[in-house]
Amino acid sequence: MKPVAKIEVRACDACGTQDDVRTYRVTAPGGKAQELDLCREHAEPVDALLGKVRTSTSAGFTVITEEELEERKRSVARRSPGKG
Ligand SMILES: [Zn+2]
Repeated sequence: MKPVAKIEVRACDACGTQDDVRTYRVTAPGGKAQELDLCREHAEPVDALLGKVRTSTSAGFTVITEEELEERKRSVARRSPGKG
């Protein structure tokens, strides 16, 4: 018996295609993080939005963990207003 390779198949949440599907993690304000599987076509609006958002890296957008996000919030809160 041949070993069966396990392949994780993702389908686009919008149209159901399994072609060139990427996973996006979106967090709504005050909500839970949700993972969206989107094909190239349906990821386009998301990519466009991400492209408009200014980030510290010029190579693209940065994906950070929730821990890093919390740490960033803390460091911003630590700044005293009126300075800088
Ligand atoms: Zn799609």
